[in-house]
Amino acid sequence: MHASRSRAGAISISDLRADLSGRVIAPDDADYDQARMVFYGGIDRRPAAIARVADATDVARVVSLAREKGVQLAVRSGGHSLAGHAVSDGGIVLDLADMKGLDIEADGRTAWAETGLTAAEFSTATGAHGLGVGFGDTGSVGIGGITLGGGVGYLVRKHGLTVDSLLAADVVTADGQLRHVDAETHPELFWAIRGGGGNFGVATRFQYRLHDVGTIVGGMLILPASADLVASFVALAEAAPDELSTIANIMPAPPMPFVPAEHHGKLVVMALMAYAGDTAAGERTLAPFRALATPIVDMVRPMPYREIYPPEDEAYHPTAVAHTLFLDSVGRDVADKIVNHLESSDATMRVAQLRVLGGQVARVPADATAFAHRKSRVLVSLAVFYDGAEDRVIRQAWLNRFASALRQEDLGAYVNFLGDEGDERVRAAYPGSTWDRLRAIKRRYDSTNLFRLNQNIPPAAEDPATEATG
Ligand SMILES: Cc1cc2nc3c(=O)[nH]c(=O)nc-3n(C[C@H](O)[C@H](O)[C@H](O)COP(=O)(O)OP(=O)(O)OC[C@H]3O[C@@H](n4cnc5c(N)ncnc54)[C@H](O)[C@@H]3O)c2cc1C
Repeated sequence: MHASRSRAGAISISDLRADLSGRVIAPDDADYDQARMVFYGGIDRRPAAIARVADATDVARVVSLAREKGVQLAVRSGGHSLAGHAVSDGGIVLDLADMKGLDIEADGRTAWAETGLTAAEFSTATGAHGLGVGFGDTGSVGIGGITLGGGVGYLVRKHGLTVDSLLAADVVTADGQLRHVDAETHPELFWAIRGGGGNFGVATRFQYRLHDVGTIVGGMLILPASADLVASFVALAEAAPDELSTIANIMPAPPMPFVPAEHHGKLVVMALMAYAGDTAAGERTLAPFRALATPIVDMVRPMPYREIYPPEDEAYHPTAVAHTLFLDSVGRDVADKIVNHLESSDATMRVAQLRVLGGQVARVPADATAFAHRKSRVLVSLAVFYDGAEDRVIRQAWLNRFASALRQEDLGAYVNFLGDEGDERVRAAYPGSTWDRLRAIKRRYDSTNLFRLNQNIPPAAEDPATEATG
């Protein structure tokens, strides 16, 4: 079919091209297959059009078109959603990748960032001023998705979640209006977008508070895994000052050049450490971790914060299933279960990732933002790679058993680590009154659920009288 006559539902591609300043990629364009690919492999959806929007006006046009024509709308920042929410089958993708404007106010310690930026792009640019915001552990993650879901990364204990550094946003809501949103203007919407994901509109840019993060003591520390070591690691991470945030991946050692060959495939703790503070104090804080066992790899060193994101292989598209949960404590018995369960699988990659929370995350009241898990102690992500549909079933069953074996009192879930897991799991991300409040705000700003290709919060059935302040 000729590109100008192909249609996204009832939308004509040629009209769309004429309407937008940005580029529209259709199925017969040479880079269509590249453009519809997301981070995770095994997601093979064919959108009718991919709109590489150039600015907020383009965003508003695409949103309005999708609403008027009843076309499924996918919104894409970095494309890292585990469920593949950044790509639609048959609908239109609003792809923000060309919107990478960044205005840094170094003196005022703030920055306005367009949402096509990745965590690494943002951090490299602000890092040149010795400033930064905490995103996640991977540089290619889009600031769009990670911010809207909360954001747990290398500065989480010192400076809180990514949303705790969010001062304002520009959001195109379902009616096609571009709205400035902050604590005074549309305060309810501002509350909702700090954890509620892409349910409320397309964020075109965010304003962040920047933190002084010139030099950190950080990098990778690989230790041999045992139940004792895992339990001791978590105990040290909990007792450490807020300056230290850790991400401990218990997994088979990958066959990377810097890992001695005799360890390849053996279970290790691949820990990513970040001490954001005085270098000497950082070295002192890290010493007991290094003393837990003879390190297999020790790349922890004073470094500019912006170097925390090494270059990535763009051709890497793993097929994986994952499960996220929170743990109240990781004692010897829990560590034992983790190590034994990981040993019981022969998947090429399987991992239990532990992140000790607390610090600044826990100082923010649970109802201050739509991320309600402020008192949760340890954020866990379990993941396993699979190879084909049959293998997926086997790996999923193993993962389910793993998650059940670990589950404790805290039944919450972190929305950014959810896959396509059903309504109950989305509810777990938004416990209690958070859910009702989000549904009321959703009704107010997106009553027809135009933004539904996400971890979806359906609009409340009736507009509660209390919802009048947003
Ligand atoms: C390798 C890897 C490492 C990760 N590490 C971390 C980590 O350390 N910490 C952490 O907190 N999370 C982490 N995540 C999870 C990550 O935060 C989420 O997957 C996040 O949603 C990805 O954002 P994205 O913009 O890249 O993805 P996308 O797939 O583009 O978007 C994710 C969701 O957000 C919506 N969305 C994106 N941008 C906008 C926008 N501007 N306006 C409205 N809606 C939007 C999309 O529609 C979609 O529903 C990781 C994910 C991966 C794959």
